[in-house]
Amino acid sequence: MELNTEIKVSTDPIFNKISKVVPEIEWKIHAPLIYKINKLKKEKNAVILAHNYQTPEIYHGIADFAADSLALAIEASKTKADIIIMCGVHFMAETAKLMSPQKKVLLPDMSAGCSLSSSITGKDVRLLKKKYPGVPVVSYINTSAEVKAETDVCCTSANAVKVVESLGAKKVIFLPDKYLAKYVTKNTDVEIISWKGTCVVHEQFTEKEINEIKEQNPGIIVIAHPECPPDVINAADFAGSTSGMSEYVKKNQPKKVMMVTECSMSDNVQVENPKVQFIKPCNLCPYMKKITLPKILDCLENESNEIIIPGNLIKKAKLSVEKMTLIGRWSSNVIDILKQAILEDLRPSGDVTSKHIKNNKLIKAKIISNENCIIGGLSLAKKVFKFSDKKIIFKLKTKDGRKINKGKVVAIIYGKSKAILKSERVALNFLSLVSGVATITNKFVKKINNKSCKILCTRKTTPNLRTIQKYGVKLGGGHNHRFNLSDEILIKDNHIAIDGNINQLVKRTIKNKKGKKITVEVDNLNQLKKIIGLKFDRILFDNMNLKNLKKGVKLSSKLYETEASGGVTLKNIKKISSTGVKRISIGTITHSAPAINFKLEI
Ligand code: SF4
Repeated sequence: MELNTEIKVSTDPIFNKISKVVPEIEWKIHAPLIYKINKLKKEKNAVILAHNYQTPEIYHGIADFAADSLALAIEASKTKADIIIMCGVHFMAETAKLMSPQKKVLLPDMSAGCSLSSSITGKDVRLLKKKYPGVPVVSYINTSAEVKAETDVCCTSANAVKVVESLGAKKVIFLPDKYLAKYVTKNTDVEIISWKGTCVVHEQFTEKEINEIKEQNPGIIVIAHPECPPDVINAADFAGSTSGMSEYVKKNQPKKVMMVTECSMSDNVQVENPKVQFIKPCNLCPYMKKITLPKILDCLENESNEIIIPGNLIKKAKLSVEKMTLIGRWSSNVIDILKQAILEDLRPSGDVTSKHIKNNKLIKAKIISNENCIIGGLSLAKKVFKFSDKKIIFKLKTKDGRKINKGKVVAIIYGKSKAILKSERVALNFLSLVSGVATITNKFVKKINNKSCKILCTRKTTPNLRTIQKYGVKLGGGHNHRFNLSDEILIKDNHIAIDGNINQLVKRTIKNKKGKKITVEVDNLNQLKKIIGLKFDRILFDNMNLKNLKKGVKLSSKLYETEASGGVTLKNIKKISSTGVKRISIGTITHSAPAINFKLEI
């Protein structure tokens, strides 16, 4: 195709943006392809997702969304497009398919692999699990669906430390990147069992090379990816994931920078930060570079190279990716909550009593439970003490989720006396709260007859403490309902009362559900009859007597997942579960959980 006026008008704004990093002679070849791809993707309702390591003509020319692997996976789960073209490598396309199994996911070149991903198989993980029984597995997102299916939770280079710590385990199997494993080991107390995988791009960088560039460019800021060897990271001024590196440049606007990562990333970030001078150490990823504009066009035209993953594998592998996205929400939210709680106890003048103690000596303190309970919140208590003084040692004597007896020492703390006293109350309050929720949840879980029935919490939580209370529910053996209004569609009595027509409201919602699950709440069998047969996911029987609940479950259990709520107590839960209902949601386990009493003894 010729570079005619129509193509020029459509693509010149793109060239103006990237002309610093793409020569004009190359642009003449790129522009007609970009024009064709952008036109065709609209006609086919396709979305193009591109990784940060793609070349600028792809990243800036045709991508609808360009980011790191995690953000691409999240975007894949949200897109309304019928087709997803992944401009990245095979594991990224697989992850997009896991997140959006009903969509057609295409990879322009099926041989675009990844040295990390191919370093390990599902069989290898199964052998490791056999060797280290009970030790949770964290896998980098750069792994195949087969490996993800054997994994407890996935991570990215941006959240690897958070994910490892979120498990509350002493030991974690961390796969497959040996350098990222070293980076995590350095930043956590958790023992890491690693694998031998490496990234062919990042392992090539050396400390010598970094030091030479620093010498030749006084004042240069060097930022490195955690997949690099540890001596390279040590020689750098900052280490961060691809998104972390990009954010760093955007925020700090250094005069001169070197990004120790794949070469195209520097080009793409340079386009967005024209005032920053980039020194580019050119290590290209041979797999990422297999993706080219002609291959993208061909794949889009013929809808070829579709990613196919068996349904059972999708289910297992998706879970490990979903858990990671939940931890992301949990981590940032929880850190905020902890910081606010600490400030609440110290503002405006700090601990005005402990100031008068003469000796700020090193002491040993014990946290002891005053009640039998299911323990929860140990990692939160540890963080509270660490915020006060990084040097405090917090030794766990049990694990979140365990049943403990009155008098049990749950943790031993070593550190400076004033820092321990300053943190004591806030740390104990978190233990009391989470253990309280876990304990009451567990009482309900134990009462139920029907073992395939789940106990769930609702949105009836203490303002701003939802994440923590929902965590407690899981520790007690319960499950989490939707986190908030944006997670799932739940048509309740008030929606029905305001709309006036349950059947029409449900039909309208199904039409516009945009990938969200739909639950419809009914409080009588007449309402159920008006909607039965419509294609939604779950039916929620609210406040129905046992006789009607049983009838409702019988009528609908082949079509929908069934749930009961309203007035559930420890006395009646056994009978409710005997109706065959699959889920019972209970507000009491979060809004009225009695706190468990703990003490700190010196
Ligand atoms: S840059 Fe490294 S980790 Fe990324 S796709 Fe290439 S080989 Fe894999």
